[in-house]
Amino acid sequence: MTGPAREKLAVLIVGAGFSGLAMAIRCRQAGIGPLQVIEKGDGIGGTWHDNTYPGAACDIPSHLYSLSFAPKPDWTRMYAPQPEILAYLRETAERYGLMPLIRLGTTFTGATWDEARALWRVETDRGPIEARAIVSGMGGLHHPAYPDIPGRDAFAGPAFHTATWDHAVDLAGKRVGIIGTGASAIQVVPELAKVAAHLTLFQRTPPWIMPRHDHAIPARSRARYRRLPLVRRLERARLFWLHEVRALLGFTKVSKLTAQAEGLARRHLAKAVRDEALRAKLTPPYRLGCKRVLISDDFYPALQRANVSLETDGIARITATGITTETGHSHALDVIVYATGFDVTASFARMDLVGRDGLRLTEAWADGMGAYQGITVAGFPNYFMLLGPNTGLGHNSVVSMIEIQVQHVLDCLKALKTGDRSIEVRPEAQGRFLDRIRRRLADSIWQVGGCRSWYLDANGRNTSLWPDSVMAYRRSARRARMADYRRG
Ligand code: NAP
Repeated sequence: MTGPAREKLAVLIVGAGFSGLAMAIRCRQAGIGPLQVIEKGDGIGGTWHDNTYPGAACDIPSHLYSLSFAPKPDWTRMYAPQPEILAYLRETAERYGLMPLIRLGTTFTGATWDEARALWRVETDRGPIEARAIVSGMGGLHHPAYPDIPGRDAFAGPAFHTATWDHAVDLAGKRVGIIGTGASAIQVVPELAKVAAHLTLFQRTPPWIMPRHDHAIPARSRARYRRLPLVRRLERARLFWLHEVRALLGFTKVSKLTAQAEGLARRHLAKAVRDEALRAKLTPPYRLGCKRVLISDDFYPALQRANVSLETDGIARITATGITTETGHSHALDVIVYATGFDVTASFARMDLVGRDGLRLTEAWADGMGAYQGITVAGFPNYFMLLGPNTGLGHNSVVSMIEIQVQHVLDCLKALKTGDRSIEVRPEAQGRFLDRIRRRLADSIWQVGGCRSWYLDANGRNTSLWPDSVMAYRRSARRARMADYRRG
């Protein structure tokens, strides 16, 4: 290997999505280097590079779903569409001079801690790299999950996942089947309904859906945000607290507010869907908040188009020509779209990380994933995760979580910069943190709300979400408490 791969890096950042880019910017500002970002995709943007399905957009308002230190005053819509978010990330990377630091098309396959030299020996599909510290900006939503349905490979027509959209397939005039009714599905269904000859939506569990109220941000507001940064900051703060209040009022637990929110969502459904039988099929049989609460104004109307049908019988098998349900009904299809989400556990566990004394991350996590503040794991010095276990959010912008984590990691990297060879969380600090999380999760909505979601792992434990407000996470994680770390 030639060039930068031979160089011993101070920090290797894995992933050029929101997290990796934010980390790289902050490292540069703090004078931490040499630094490199590797990215498996052929472009930067992470989730916003991968997910290009028609209708892809963010369900958190744009002014909140952006980096506080890299503001964009001229977002065109309340909820930015995917191309605009991707353009924002590209512009931000350019503006902060990150592009020369990023190696695209380079997949992180594993790393081994070299105790004697106090560095990570990293394996990629493009050769080895050595780095004193690794920051994972990989997140948990990048391994598409395909359902284990008999005959899945038998289908003769095109079949693809929402996260790997095949734009070469023209869906106009086609009979399209789409499996899944999560956040991705409800965005893509209204778009496909406009072009397909017939669209069949295969629903296993109906989602709770709230009104979205998306709208263009008027030119005069954009001009004002550009001219008066304080006004933009106030708008961001307003949006932050609007979302944060959901957690503070008990969004994480079954409460009086749950019933009120369910009432609001039921009214949204009743207003949009007059047909009682269809409404019954679309009414969730579990408590609101147990799965991610979705927002949409066009999903219910799309389902009532003449060329759209909702199939709620279970899928028995996929055949060469379509999908057959458990009641024996065969749907003839030209194309199948999998809106079936991501394999979160695999995203974290698949990487072959070997820490101190040969401990593998998969062994450390044999009973489930867990990390101190969702960031560091005992036995894995100088290894940091952004959007690691238990730091996802259902109620607010994950970008706020990323920024808190970046600050925490920066504290640790600064300790390395000023002479420490290694920094590793103490097992007792990690244990205390995880106990705290588990206690809080025990009676949380995700555990007792009567549903099964991707938030829960194979043992039925929520290893995905932060069970409190963003402000609580900020208090907990923003500064790295050095007493909780062992420095070598
Ligand atoms: P998801 O929420 O995991 O939804 C997957 C869907 O596929 C569910 O409806 C699930 O049904 C269904 N499914 C899975 N296996 C099935 C099977 N064998 N038969 C029938 N149905 C099956 O995935 P997603 O919609 O891609 O969203 C994943 C996450 O990505 C979201 O929670 C969110 O964090 C993020 N996201 C965010 C946005 C945004 O706007 N910010 C947009 C898209 C995605 P069950 O409910 O019955 O399991």
